[in-house]
Amino acid sequence: MSNNNFNQNLKNISSENLDWSTIQKDMKNKFGSDIYESWLKKIEFVEEMNNYVLLSVSTRFIRDWITSRYLDQILQIVKNYKKDLTRIELKIIEKSSLDENKEQINNIKKTENISFIKDTYLQYNRIDPNKRFDNFVTGTSNKLAYEASLKVSENISHYNPLYIYGGVGMGKTHLLNSIGISLKEKNKVMFISAERFMYQFVKSIKSNDMVKFKEYFRNTDILIIDDIQFMNGKEAMQEEFFHTFNALLDKGSQIIISADRAPNKLSRIQDRIKSRFAGGLVVDIQKPDYELRSKIIKQKTEELNIFYSNQINISDEIQKFISLETTTSIRELVGAINRVVSFSRIYNKIPNLSEVKIVLKDLLNTGENKITIDLIQSIVCKFFKISKNEMLSSRRSRYLVRPRQIAIYLTKILTSKSLPEIGREFSNRDHTTIIHSVKTIEKLKENDQEMTNNINNLKNQILYNKPHEI
Ligand code: ADP
Ligand code: MG
Repeated sequence: MSNNNFNQNLKNISSENLDWSTIQKDMKNKFGSDIYESWLKKIEFVEEMNNYVLLSVSTRFIRDWITSRYLDQILQIVKNYKKDLTRIELKIIEKSSLDENKEQINNIKKTENISFIKDTYLQYNRIDPNKRFDNFVTGTSNKLAYEASLKVSENISHYNPLYIYGGVGMGKTHLLNSIGISLKEKNKVMFISAERFMYQFVKSIKSNDMVKFKEYFRNTDILIIDDIQFMNGKEAMQEEFFHTFNALLDKGSQIIISADRAPNKLSRIQDRIKSRFAGGLVVDIQKPDYELRSKIIKQKTEELNIFYSNQINISDEIQKFISLETTTSIRELVGAINRVVSFSRIYNKIPNLSEVKIVLKDLLNTGENKITIDLIQSIVCKFFKISKNEMLSSRRSRYLVRPRQIAIYLTKILTSKSLPEIGREFSNRDHTTIIHSVKTIEKLKENDQEMTNNINNLKNQILYNKPHEI
């Protein structure tokens, strides 16, 4: 497209802008949440022209995957909103921190803009049958929250309210949902996100339906509110919430709340409400440790095997790789497993480690867990008690050669750097030297238990970014 044309097109952007969040919802409905979470959620909207929409994803692999499997149907979905659409293009844009900022800002905007949510209370009282106690895997980081939830579901008012908090993707909604499932047979359960609660509230004021709203919420036996940090309503709204809350507690209804932070850290909520939240039991969910991550990988793979009624054996090496690499949240971990399983179903083979790395490229080593060559070098140097100058020097003494080879090997397996790139970071060594180092260590690992132990130890230190004393 010539520049002129391009500018012309930019000017013609239709005034009726595409609402990407609506399209995302449609995609989720059409493809199901597994496929959506694993592949489609990360598609970003870039821009739209008269008959053309530009989207972006972060890796070539994902682009090709989506193009070959889903793009036609995505085109149909978008067409519902944009009749003269003829083409969708997927561009690869590596995710920079800039994009992440943009995404965060957009998310905040989305939650503040509630006008696109429309529907009745009941339609939002959706309990997901797939999130149950029996498929919630427990470990040190979530055991307390799990046990408290179980107690509440067996014996209402044991802890009231129950307040569960933790970061994104840690299993809060899963637990809240499990409570909902076990109590809904015998009780009137209302499971709603704080965002929708607010929306209903505002809507009922506008339509003079306050009485109905009050009745509805005050009649529930179990009120479950997800993501309370999004409750940022005006005084009147908080007032109503406070009264509903008290009325429910007075009549012995159970209240369960989740949030991304502790009650006292909620910024836009009145103090008296916060202290009500803190008046029952407050439990947190921490980041999953290695052991829990491995357990979840095993269980999810089994679930998917049953679901697809075929047997996919993800090798121990790959299971280990995934649990070492996806450390930030369980959501990310589950997404990674879904992708690997989809890959093996479609290609009818178990992916090997380098294929897994490609499939998961955009999930690995992001954000705070970023692995740099510098980090690897520092940790390896510390481990072998040599200096970085020695590691990077051209000296070939045996006590320097091994650590150097190990650092090179770890860089190869823990980062996505190419051989020439690794060579450059190790004082401009040739890429054949890099290959030789990697091969040497791979061989040694086969027969030398101490080498294997050292490598695993170093790998863990690097992945957790904590050079601890040895
Ligand atoms: P949150 O609400 O804390 O952001 P979710 O409850 O939505 O997180 O969890 C994200 C994903 O991870 C969901 O698919 C959920 O089923 C899964 N998940 C979270 N914790 C566990 C767990 N302990 N066992 C099994 N699956 C889990
Ligand atoms: Mg949630």
